[in-house]
Amino acid sequence: MPDSPQISAPLASAAPSSTLDHVDCWVFDLDNTLYPAETDLFGLIDMRMGDYISRLLDVDAAQARIVQKRYFIDHGTTLSGLMRYHGVDPHHFLDFVHDIDLDRLQADPALIGHIEALPGRKLIFTNGDAPYARRVLDRLGLSHIFELIHDIHTTGYRPKPDPHGYALLRDEYGVNLNHAAFFEDMARNLKPAKALGMTTIWLNNGSESGHVDAHEDFIDFETHHLTPFLQNILCGE
Ligand SMILES: [Mg+2]
Repeated sequence: MPDSPQISAPLASAAPSSTLDHVDCWVFDLDNTLYPAETDLFGLIDMRMGDYISRLLDVDAAQARIVQKRYFIDHGTTLSGLMRYHGVDPHHFLDFVHDIDLDRLQADPALIGHIEALPGRKLIFTNGDAPYARRVLDRLGLSHIFELIHDIHTTGYRPKPDPHGYALLRDEYGVNLNHAAFFEDMARNLKPAKALGMTTIWLNNGSESGHVDAHEDFIDFETHHLTPFLQNILCGE
């Protein structure tokens, strides 16, 4: 039953996280979480990143891709590596790579209804930037639902899974992390969330690198599809 909320591990020592009844703040990653991974929007961004690096370093596409993926793995985002080693301006980079067509995104009326119906605050926590996130949310019909977008700028360019951005949810936005749930397609980004008290839901939907470092110790729930998962929460199942 991959579409049902499932406890992915024995959680005898973490009983409060074995259900979502205590949650009053719902934090969502954006890309490949609020829309299906097969939409492959990142494929378009990925190509733009490659173009950017090719121009910046004056290298061919193959060399640019090696740099891009190495920075992504080593520093959480390609941008972090580019800032650290090449002094790249984050606004310039993000404007360039997010200049993509969003036509392939489609609103899911059921998903919109389910997120609207969740009781409490709703936030976005993304390694992208807020202008891009707003465009995606607009396209998905979700922009009216979320109170704020915690993005790569507000985290001080310390992307997930750096614990800094998660702590800011508590320290800047007043989120009680013990009463917050975090939905994310990249399993490794759930580890600091769990460490700080959040209940974690892994969208195991086949996104690139989504499974890297996945471990049951910090994943409370695992699902392949967000919409039926939320429906089950709202039905109290
Ligand atoms: Mg994501």
